[in-house]
Amino acid sequence: MSRPVLVIGGPPTTNGDMHIGHVAGPYVAADTHVRYLRAAGREVLFASGGDDSQTYVYTTAARLGTTPQALADKSWAQIKTTWDAMGIHVDGFAPTDDGYRRNVYDYVQRLYDLGKFRLRTVRLPYSEAKGMYLVEGLVGGDCPTCLADSRGGICEACGHPVDFDALIEPYSIMDPSDPVTYREAEILVFPLEEYREQLLAYHEARADRWRPHAVQFIRELLSRPLPDFPITYPVSWGMPAPFAETPGQTLNAWLEGMPASMYCHNFAQREQGTTPPSGDDAWRAEHDAELVFFVGFDNLYIWAAVHIAELIAHEGRYILPDTILCNEFYELENEKFSTSKGHVVWARDLVAEVPRDLVRFYLNLTAPEHARTNFSRAALDKIVGERLVGPWNELAATLGKLTTAGETLPVSPEGPARAAAIADRFGLCFELSSFSLNRAADLIVQHVERLRAHAARALDGEPVELGDLFLQLRALISGASPILIDMTARAAEAGGFTPSLSAAAYAVASTTAFPVPGLDTRVQPTPTLAEVS
Ligand SMILES: [Zn+2]
Repeated sequence: MSRPVLVIGGPPTTNGDMHIGHVAGPYVAADTHVRYLRAAGREVLFASGGDDSQTYVYTTAARLGTTPQALADKSWAQIKTTWDAMGIHVDGFAPTDDGYRRNVYDYVQRLYDLGKFRLRTVRLPYSEAKGMYLVEGLVGGDCPTCLADSRGGICEACGHPVDFDALIEPYSIMDPSDPVTYREAEILVFPLEEYREQLLAYHEARADRWRPHAVQFIRELLSRPLPDFPITYPVSWGMPAPFAETPGQTLNAWLEGMPASMYCHNFAQREQGTTPPSGDDAWRAEHDAELVFFVGFDNLYIWAAVHIAELIAHEGRYILPDTILCNEFYELENEKFSTSKGHVVWARDLVAEVPRDLVRFYLNLTAPEHARTNFSRAALDKIVGERLVGPWNELAATLGKLTTAGETLPVSPEGPARAAAIADRFGLCFELSSFSLNRAADLIVQHVERLRAHAARALDGEPVELGDLFLQLRALISGASPILIDMTARAAEAGGFTPSLSAAAYAVASTTAFPVPGLDTRVQPTPTLAEVS
């Protein structure tokens, strides 16, 4: 029996809808991996939810002239709709409801009762004019590690934590002209340094399977003293902290990450009709599930250091993630995405124009796996048109001329092994230890072109085993099925087969010709009522 798999797409901050830079990171990757696992017969639960408590919700709401709660509610619904449109199918997209809050409070109370927090006096940036502390997304300045422009808490550029008063030349995000001073505050912290040995052991055990940049980052992080992680902040936006020592403070939004993720899986289980005994049941050690996080590199410090130490601090109650798969940044037309500057392509706008299969293909082909990569609309049109849609449609048309649907075609003695080889290479791309969406998407176009050329030779009268060709086509469709979700579903239905990457599925002496569906480069407009009648 293989272990059940729990997949988390790092809960997105609910300060707006998703642009393609967001979806091209953790979410398309997680969805693609989950579709592969399902096709392989694995028991898998894929969940996410909104991250409402981040200070970024507060600052964006102020910029837009709305309330943080109204923005969070609207964004949660938008993200859910966008994911549906993209075919990013989560089993549960958890709301921030009473069950969510209960899960968070149970989690922090348990750590508190186990004596895992410390009360510390820290120096925090402060706005005298507004009478408020400036932490996390409320404050900007230069990162003390890499000198890039950063926010408080964590630096987006280098990924390293930014200690409380460590930003160089801090400024207020809400009003850069408002001078920033410092004030002391007594807050609860989680002393990360106390988990050094366990973190070292955890990461060294996984170093040969994780992406090199993640491994390098963790080693660098662990080569120097680990900072205290703030559990509470003296700010107004967030869940009220339940501790007597910190009256009027709120919980650091990042602390919600683990109980929120557990609750996302709990929500998904309930969506599927089961009633788990507790909000954190899926993650309890006794179930021994395989846990996988898909997150952006800019949050890796939180997910791979802070959250792991928190789970360890629960003293054996929870599983630890087997894999944390992190992506780099995606750019738009060689510039950073910027919602506030309008330099953005919304995912839902793109899939309204270009079929989502083709969008998913391009996002996979260019996914920022190891370095910053770029989305270009012209490149999408060119690559998708020339390497995928054109050759695919020619292959489909040629096979239609060469065969009759339903016709039985003999497979040569070499046929099964060749089809299985295609399936095997796709499987390698989707397994986490060798996970690469770039290579999976590239394999699709390699084999489309190869089969197109074979079919063209057959049409010219050269001897080509059409049974072998159809069997390899089945393997290609199976390998492409986690990416080209709509076309492959139509093709598998037309061919009367279930997509499979198992060699056994290709151990046949004959196969059946079927009509191969084509690909459109544009979303076909839905006919209006007048046109229908
Ligand atoms: Zn930095």
